[in-house]
Amino acid sequence: MDENSPEMTTALQAIRLASRLCQKVRKELAGGASIQKNDRSPVTIADYGSQAIICKLIREAFPDDIVVAEEDSAELRKPDHSSLLHQVTGYIRDFFPGVSSEEVCSWIDLSSHSIKNRFWTLDPIDGTKGFLRGDQYAIALALIENGLVQLGLMACPDLYVDKDRPHEKKGCLFLALRGKGSFQMGLDGEGRQTLSVSRVDNPVKASFTESVEPDHADHQTHLKIAKKLRITRPPLKMDSQVKYGVVARGEATFYLRVPSHSEPGYKEKVWDHAPGAIIAEEAGGKVTDLYGKPLDFSSGIQLERNHGILVSNGILHEVILKALEI
Ligand code: AMP
Ligand code: MG
Repeated sequence: MDENSPEMTTALQAIRLASRLCQKVRKELAGGASIQKNDRSPVTIADYGSQAIICKLIREAFPDDIVVAEEDSAELRKPDHSSLLHQVTGYIRDFFPGVSSEEVCSWIDLSSHSIKNRFWTLDPIDGTKGFLRGDQYAIALALIENGLVQLGLMACPDLYVDKDRPHEKKGCLFLALRGKGSFQMGLDGEGRQTLSVSRVDNPVKASFTESVEPDHADHQTHLKIAKKLRITRPPLKMDSQVKYGVVARGEATFYLRVPSHSEPGYKEKVWDHAPGAIIAEEAGGKVTDLYGKPLDFSSGIQLERNHGILVSNGILHEVILKALEI
């Protein structure tokens, strides 16, 4: 697979439209209305709109493929949420004039929660809490074949292009293909750069990134590990798989995700890690769980056989794993 393959062309087109929709929703509605799902996590107009567009375009181009995506239309179809559905439909009509609300729901439901040898993963908005707070979020798409991520794309509309000029240009697209490297560019493809992880080989000089949400990762344990490694810099707190991107481009040395005590049985979802993982690995990084096991994307919608996540520049991976053996 290369950058001119139909998979990459379709994925790029889909993620760009979805990212324009998300940006417009955030600008006009400051995130907009959100509803709570059964697991009490939020979902917004933009999550639904992004999923509808991406699922429609992928399934149209590859009718036999499965898209394992986070959302479904069950809540949206409830009479109580009719105005939300009306708004979602309105935003999608910018790109597909005349589409009906019923069609929008059917596009959202083109997704599946079971896997095959070849499947896509989609998080229509990764970091919905960040999206609502006005912080980072990503539209994250990957293609997996026989348990291996082949292609990863992440649109990060609010991420600064250059860490040394964080208030200047924002909006990054991360792209990786197995064996072909990892790249960052503007959302329209401008200013393309090849990514490589940091060369830091002394933990004292390392920096790390973690979730903003304390319910998603155990910040106390992260601090203990940082102390053990004599890291002095405070963690870079960011929502979504943007964290994989900042490791891939060498801005942070590693990303740590020790499971939080708030939900001890929680299993990580494939759509939260597949795109980020290939982007970090193709930039020269290493991605494993906290026992050093590679992430296993062949066990369903969850990473059933993994515990926690460590993404590093590779050089410091073993040292950090050792520090985790508490
Ligand atoms: P982050 O922005 O890195 O905090 O990750 C956001 C993702 O965390 C969401 O897309 C959720 O799928 C996921 N998530 C939800 N609950 C948990 C949990 N208890 N532990 C870890 N991740 C979670
Ligand atoms: Mg997510």
